[in-house]
Amino acid sequence: MSQDTNVNKRTKKMTNATAPMLHSALLIDGQLVAGQGARETILNPATGETLCEIAEASLEQLEQAIAAARSAFAGWSRTTPAQRSLILLQIADAIEQRSAELAMLEALNCGKPQHLARNDDIPAAVDVFRFFAGAVRCQQGQLSGEYLPGHTSLVRRDPLGVVASIAPWNYPLMMAAWKIAPAIAAGNTLVFKPSEHTPLSILALAPALAELLPRGVLNIICGAGETVGSPLVSHPQVRMVSLTGDIVTGQKILQAAARTLKRTHLELGGKAPLIVCNDADLAAVIQGVRSYGYYNAGQDCTAACRIYAQAGIHDRLVAELGDAVASLRFARKKDSDNEIGPLISARQRDRVASFVERALGQPHIERVTGAAVHSGPGFYYQPTLLAGCRQNDEIVQREVFGPVVSVTRFDDLSQAVDWANDSEYGLASSVWTQNLDKAMQIANRLQYGCTWINTHFTLVSEMPHGGLKRSGYGKDLSSDSLQDYSVVRHIMARHGTELS
Ligand code: NAD
Repeated sequence: MSQDTNVNKRTKKMTNATAPMLHSALLIDGQLVAGQGARETILNPATGETLCEIAEASLEQLEQAIAAARSAFAGWSRTTPAQRSLILLQIADAIEQRSAELAMLEALNCGKPQHLARNDDIPAAVDVFRFFAGAVRCQQGQLSGEYLPGHTSLVRRDPLGVVASIAPWNYPLMMAAWKIAPAIAAGNTLVFKPSEHTPLSILALAPALAELLPRGVLNIICGAGETVGSPLVSHPQVRMVSLTGDIVTGQKILQAAARTLKRTHLELGGKAPLIVCNDADLAAVIQGVRSYGYYNAGQDCTAACRIYAQAGIHDRLVAELGDAVASLRFARKKDSDNEIGPLISARQRDRVASFVERALGQPHIERVTGAAVHSGPGFYYQPTLLAGCRQNDEIVQREVFGPVVSVTRFDDLSQAVDWANDSEYGLASSVWTQNLDKAMQIANRLQYGCTWINTHFTLVSEMPHGGLKRSGYGKDLSSDSLQDYSVVRHIMARHGTELS
C-alpha cells in the first residue's frame, strides 16, 4: 500500500497544532491513489472558503475499482460471519480512535458544530459497525426440512456481488457507515462514492480501511453524480445500487438499473409531519421541535418540519415555538456556543430562501421568526417558523431541507391524519399527546416508515430506518438492512425415502 498521494494540506486558517490533515487519495484495490479525473473544490460552508481540491476518479479508475471489487468477491463472500464481524469491530475501533480528527473534518467540511459531530455523528457511525458485527453472527431464517418426501430443502442467504453505494452530504461519515457496514457484513464487496461536497472524513479513514480490509473489498472513489455516479450505477458488473439522496437522483438510478436489472436500495427525501393534539405536553413539543426541526440546519430527511397543531393548542404553540426558535444559536465564534450550522452550499441556502420567499408571497402565511439569509460569511439561513400554512401550500408539500418549519391548524384528528398522509413522502412522522390510546390509533394510521410518539428524530442501530412512497424502500440499520444486501437461495437435495 502506498500513501504517497496523501495531500496533507492545511488551509490558510488552520495553522494551529490541532488542524487535521486533509487526505485526498482514493482507495482502489487496496491502494491509496490520486484521482485522475476533474478536480472538485471542497468548501467550508461555515466560511465559504476553499479547503482543498480533490481529484475525481477517472473512468479508467472507476473500471479498476469495480474490477477490484469483483475479484475480491470470491474470497470475501466465503469468509465466515465471525471473520467479517472481527473486521467490522476493528473498523469501529479505528473510527473511535480517530474521533477527534474525524469530528474536526466533519465540522470543516459540513460547517456543523464540531461538538455535535464529536458527540452525535461519530459515535453513531461507530455503533453502526458494532451493531452489524453482532447482527451478522445471529441471523435467523426459515427452517430446513422435508417439504417433499425424499427431498431436504434448506435456505441460504447469500451476498449479491459488487454493490455501488452512493451517499449524500448531510452526515458524511454516518451515511458511509450505514452503507458500508451492512453491505460488507453480508459478504458483498463495495464501490463507495461519497457526496462530491463532503469526501473528507471517509478519505481520512481510507488508510485505516486499507489496512483492515482485504484488498478490493471496499473501494472509495470520489466524484460528481453525472461524471462518476452515473457510470458507476450503469456498470454491468455492479449487481446492486444503494443510494441515499434526492428523489430525482433515485429516479435516474432506477432507470439506469433497469437496463441490467440491478437490485436497488433507495433512501430518498422526507417531509415529516407532527400531529400535535390539544392534550400534548406543550413544553415537550417546543423542546422537541426546537431540537429536531432545526438539527443540522434542517438538512435531515426526518426533520420535524411540518406541524399540524390542533385548534386548542395552536396559538400557544406558535407563540412559544417562535420564541424558542429565535433563541437558536448559530454562526458564533466559539464552537460550543453553536447549536446549528450553515447550509451545505450557497446554492442550497438560496434554494431554502426561495421556498420561504414564495411561501411569504401567500397572504395567509405569517412569518413568526427568521425568514432571511444571515448576514456575514458562510451559507447560514435564519431558523424560520411560518404559521397559517395550508395543506396545498408548496411549503407544506415539498421538502425544503433547511431550517424551516411550517404550522397548519386543524380541528379534528381524522383531518390531521388525512393531511399528514397526503404527501408524496413517507419516511418519518410523530404524534404528540398525553393519551396513549389516541397516540396508538393515530400512529397506526400514519403511512410512514417511522412514527414516534411524544418524541421525534431518534434512531437506534437495532431498528429499521426507511420510507414508503417516494421516500424510497431500502431499509438502513437493523437486521432488515442485512436482508436488503443479501439474497435468499433454496438448496434442495434428493435423497429418497428408504435407508439403504
Ligand atoms: P443528491 O441526490 O443530489 O446526491 C446524493 C448522491 O447521489 C451524491 O453522492 C451525488 O453525487 C449522487 N448522484 C447525483 N446524481 C447522480 C446520478 N445521476 N447517478 C448516480 N449518482 C448520482 O442528494 P443530496 O443533495 O446529496 O442529499 C440531499 C437529499 O438526500 C435530500 O433529498 C434528503 O432528503 C436525502 N436524504 C435522505 C435520507 C434518508 O435516509 N432517506 C438521508 C439523508 C438524505
